[in-house]
Amino acid sequence: MTIANNLSELIGNTPLVKLNHVTEGIKATIAVKVEYFNPGGSSKDRIAERIIDAAERSGELQPGGVIVEPTSGNTGVGLALVAQQRGYRTIFTLPDKVSESKRAVLRAYGAEIVVTPTDAGPDDPRSYYQVAERLAKTIPGGFRPNQYDNPNGPASHYATTGPEIWKATDGKVTHFVAGIGTGGTISGTGRYLKEVSDGKVKVIGSDPEGSIYSAPSMADVHQYDIEGVGEDFYPKAFDRTITDDIVKVNDHDAFLMTRRLASEEGLLVGGSSGMAVASAIEYARRNNLDENQLVVVLLPDSGRSYLEKIFNDDWMRAHGYGDIVEATTRPSLVA
Ligand code: PMP
Repeated sequence: MTIANNLSELIGNTPLVKLNHVTEGIKATIAVKVEYFNPGGSSKDRIAERIIDAAERSGELQPGGVIVEPTSGNTGVGLALVAQQRGYRTIFTLPDKVSESKRAVLRAYGAEIVVTPTDAGPDDPRSYYQVAERLAKTIPGGFRPNQYDNPNGPASHYATTGPEIWKATDGKVTHFVAGIGTGGTISGTGRYLKEVSDGKVKVIGSDPEGSIYSAPSMADVHQYDIEGVGEDFYPKAFDRTITDDIVKVNDHDAFLMTRRLASEEGLLVGGSSGMAVASAIEYARRNNLDENQLVVVLLPDSGRSYLEKIFNDDWMRAHGYGDIVEATTRPSLVA
C-alpha cells in the first residue's frame, strides 16, 4: 500500500521538470524543483518538520507546548501543519500590512494570530519580532523556532533537498540556483551538493536588487516588491562560504519571469521563483553554459499566494508593471 500515515510523510521528494520555453537561446538544460508539491505548499515544510523534531529531542518543546514565531507566510503554514498533527498550539505575530487572505490561511490551519502595527520598527516593543519574543518567554511551554538563526533550517535542506536533487539528476547536476531569504535553502542544499560532487557543483544565489546579499554597499540596500527573499542583515542560517556567485534581479524582471512561468510553462509559482529562474538564465547567458551543463533551480512556493499582487493586473499596473501585463496577457473576449 502507498497510503501515507500522516501528512508529514508527504514532505519533500518534490519533482524536477525541465523548462522548455522561457529558456529560448540557452544551450544548457535548466530544470526546476517545484516545492509547491509539499503538503503545506512550500519548501518551508521541510524546515518546520526538522525544527520541531529537534526541539522535541532537546526538550525545548514539551508535550502541550506553544510554538511562537514572527511569520506571515510559508514558515507559519509549515509550522502550523506539523504542530497540529502533534498537538502543539501555534501563535504567529504578523504586521497589519499582511493581507487578509494570508491571515485566513494561517487560521485555517489552526494557528492563533497576533496582529502588530507595521510602522513599529524592530526595536519597538510593539513590533512583531518583539511581541513574539515576549510571548515565547511569558507563555508556559513557549518555544521560538527562530528560523533566521536555527541550524536545523539549513540542516533540513542538507538532509533532504540536496540528496533529492543529486538522485533525480543521477549526479549530473552542475549548477544549483536558489533565492536567499534566511539562507537556509542555499546553504544546506549547496553544502550537500558540493560535498557529494567533490566541489564540482557550482552554487548560485539569487537576490532581489536592494537586498544586502548582492548590494555593493549598505547605501544600496533598499525596499523591493519581491517577497520572501533578500534581507537587510546577515542571518546565521546563511553560510557565505557556500555560494560561488550571486546574481541580482530587479522586481520588474522577476515579475516578468513569474508571469511567463505561469503562461508559458504552466508553473503558477511565486515571485521568488521567477526571480531564481531569471538569475539562472542570466548566469547561463553570461557564462556561456553549454549542452553539457545541467542547472537546477529551486522554486519555493505557489503563485496562489500572490493572486492579489503579481497575478492581479490592476495591482501590477498601479505599481509600474503595466508593460508586463501587456506582454503576458491575452485580450479578454467579451461576447
Ligand atoms: N521564497 C519564498 C517565497 C520564501 O518564503 C523563502 C523563505 N523566506 C525563500 C524564498 C528563501 O528561502 P530561505 O529562507 O531558505 O533562504
